[in-house]
Amino acid sequence: MSKKEELNKLEKKMAKDDSLPLQESNLVFGEGDPETDILFIGEGPGFYEDRAERPFVGRAGQLLDKLIKGNDWSREDIYITNILKRRPPNNRDPLPEEIEAYKPYLKLQIRIINPKIIVPLGRFAMNYFLPDAKISRDQGKAFWLKDKLIFPIYHPAAGLRNSSVLDSTWESFEKLKKVVEKYDELVEEREIKRKETEGNKETEKKEQSLF
Ligand code: URA
Repeated sequence: MSKKEELNKLEKKMAKDDSLPLQESNLVFGEGDPETDILFIGEGPGFYEDRAERPFVGRAGQLLDKLIKGNDWSREDIYITNILKRRPPNNRDPLPEEIEAYKPYLKLQIRIINPKIIVPLGRFAMNYFLPDAKISRDQGKAFWLKDKLIFPIYHPAAGLRNSSVLDSTWESFEKLKKVVEKYDELVEEREIKRKETEGNKETEKKEQSLF
């Protein structure tokens, strides 16, 4: 089965799963190229995303489009999804139990796409992968988690509210482009480091549970 077919199957399964929270909203599964190397993950759909059943189509989405275009990419080259696949009422923050409930599906979605680089947008998506990270300190930096490079960036909605956050977001996208270009070099560096830290069972166990 192709990645596209596997994702379609997963989406259908999710649509039927009424044990998932936020059933009053539409399912926003995600979209883009399943063969991509780069997966963007936001927090959860907002009003416009719920209505269109597509991720990042509102004002934050329009900014995300510009940032992506700034790197000479298009939405068709990457894949975009969210931690929560249904909109929380009044766009409130996701609850820990909601994140937990959607986790098995997100894990499968990541496994199917199997990107090289995951870009969490904003603190909720970042803390899913890096629980101890702080967005202002750690966005725009690359972290290895298992065989994936995690590169958190501010949520575009934060950039719409604050111009210095917006400047940092543009800078981080430029860095992301460089990270993509020198990905093979970074893999080599990681191999050297991995040999030094081999056998840290606690770290391995934590990482296994995410995707
Ligand atoms: N904010 C998100 O986190 N995701 C969307 O899809 C839209 C806005």
